[in-house]
Amino acid sequence: QVRFEDVTMRFNDKVVLDRINFTLPSQELISFLGPSGCGKSTTLYLISGLLEATSGHIYFDDQDVTKLDPVKREVGLVFQNYALYPHMTVLDNIMFPLKMAKVPKKERVETAKRMAELTHIADQLDKFPRQLSGGQQQRVAISRALSKSPDILLMDEPLSNLDARLRVEMREEIRRIQQETGVTTVFVTHDQEEALSIADHVMVLDKGEIQQMSDPVTLYRQPKNLFVAKFIGSPA
Ligand code: ATP
Ligand code: MG
Repeated sequence: QVRFEDVTMRFNDKVVLDRINFTLPSQELISFLGPSGCGKSTTLYLISGLLEATSGHIYFDDQDVTKLDPVKREVGLVFQNYALYPHMTVLDNIMFPLKMAKVPKKERVETAKRMAELTHIADQLDKFPRQLSGGQQQRVAISRALSKSPDILLMDEPLSNLDARLRVEMREEIRRIQQETGVTTVFVTHDQEEALSIADHVMVLDKGEIQQMSDPVTLYRQPKNLFVAKFIGSPA
């Protein structure tokens, strides 16, 4: 369980997040939704530890991780461009975090193969990233992010480089993988339909504040304010 307590993030003089508070429900898929520049990626980087909050506290369960090194947090990250290592095979890509953690070779291979089965990429283990489609690369990135069994999986606009058909296919795959593993997953998007269709809970961000955090149906039917209503396109 991840919890933000009065977290503020400033870049120079610009307040991007203004004392925000939230708890991510465990084992759920939560979507961060909001317009460009609202602070979705910033919030994700604060969870992962790639950025340090200007003030406030971040907890994983009851541990204060505000100052804790990213490598010591149990998080898996998937970026928009997948960030696969081009000179490594699919298998080596998936195993890489385990190698860094000095997991023995045999165990690394077993775990990586299990992850590849989970994401349906097990038939491509000897290929290189450039030989794969966007959707397949995405599967590799997810396998790699899950290889160390993180407490939380963070995905920053993971589908935005895919064409419309693959976007729908891959979001269903992400939903399936989340349900099979039960890993708490944050899915960042600026696409309303995507957020509403994939998530258990949606957190709407704007102007440095959380405008609403609800399940998709409540968000759609009972928007808390005009911004949410307009952004979601709720019926009047
Ligand atoms: P998008 O949908 O375009 O990805 P976002 O919601 O992910 O947007 P962030 O990337 O979190 O937005 O950025 C929030 C704000 O913080 C923006 O105004 C951005 O310009 C600013 N910002 C982000 N990173 C930095 C940085 N390293 N230095 C200065 N300003 C930054
Ligand atoms: Mg972003």
